[in-house]
Amino acid sequence: MTDDAPDLRRLRGDAPARNHDARTIAALTANPGCSRRGLLDAAGVDKQAVADHLGFAPRFGQSQFAITRGNSFEAQVKADGCAALLALLRGDLGLDVPAVTSADLAPRGEGRAARHAETRRALGRALSVGGGALLDHPMLVLDIAGRPAYLEPDVLALQLAGRLHVVEIKSFAVVDGQAEPEQVAAAARQAAVYVLALRRLVAELGHDPQRVAHDVFLVCPQNFSNRPVATPLDVRPQLAVLERQLTRLTRVDAILGELPDELSFALDDALPESVRAVEARYAPECLSSCEMAFFCREEARACGATGSLGRALRDDLGGVESVEAALALAAGAADVPPELAETAERLRLAARLRGEALGTAG
Ligand code: SF4
Repeated sequence: MTDDAPDLRRLRGDAPARNHDARTIAALTANPGCSRRGLLDAAGVDKQAVADHLGFAPRFGQSQFAITRGNSFEAQVKADGCAALLALLRGDLGLDVPAVTSADLAPRGEGRAARHAETRRALGRALSVGGGALLDHPMLVLDIAGRPAYLEPDVLALQLAGRLHVVEIKSFAVVDGQAEPEQVAAAARQAAVYVLALRRLVAELGHDPQRVAHDVFLVCPQNFSNRPVATPLDVRPQLAVLERQLTRLTRVDAILGELPDELSFALDDALPESVRAVEARYAPECLSSCEMAFFCREEARACGATGSLGRALRDDLGGVESVEAALALAAGAADVPPELAETAERLRLAARLRGEALGTAG
């Protein structure tokens, strides 16, 4: 199914599809069982606009200052055919970097499919020739829940000694050789998305996907200055998680098959009902990764969903969807379905221990 499929266009209320980026894909894999997010993302719905319209505007994202600083640092590293970057790799990392040919694949008004075709051609040439090559702003594609999602990375793909390395330029600082672990982890997750998309494209072009290295280069400002510093980052763990999660994502066709034919996320009065028609799996982690989080949290709290207490607790209570049902089981409710018998026994035990601890048992 493509993003122009009639079903998906109708879901967007004929609005243009939002493009995925590595952040949204990395976040998508954080909650693979959520049909609501899966469907909204697969259809390219603008979740921020939906959340705004529902009165639950998201409160995350970069400040304008951070965006401007990031853009100016990236321009500095890429100036003069990435001269600063190549000097860094030769100097800081001691790599044998030959002269490279550059392909600037940044948008020039053409569509995403045309840009992806251009990336294919440039990558195919680089792989066949095998020398030093630099691809700036490649347009990549990754299959998300049965639908191709275009990725527009700001990254570079650099070919050295026949292997391609993803280069991520980030504006967070490395101070005394250390960066904020959370920011490094987020950069590693995003880089893994690019590595995977590049590997799939390399395989489509008939080359060994392992020519895309799992070692990516992270370039950041050093010690509160604008001097860039390069650090190699092994993203094998993130790649393994990403591949596993992507295969677990619920397929869009399966979700759509269970929903009303006329469902649409157009920004009108029917929007709250349409959103509620699609099952969500809220967990507190959503607050840092999904624009819909405040709406879904409110909904989960209102119906006493166990998910609102945290993913670990929901997993412990596997199959018990509401706090009310969990309390009833703990109190010794009759008619326990066989699949919940073990959970019910553990809940009764927990209730008894709690009672003994508080001196209220019996
Ligand atoms: S915030 Fe809502 S839509 Fe987004 S992943 Fe969480 S439950 Fe799903």
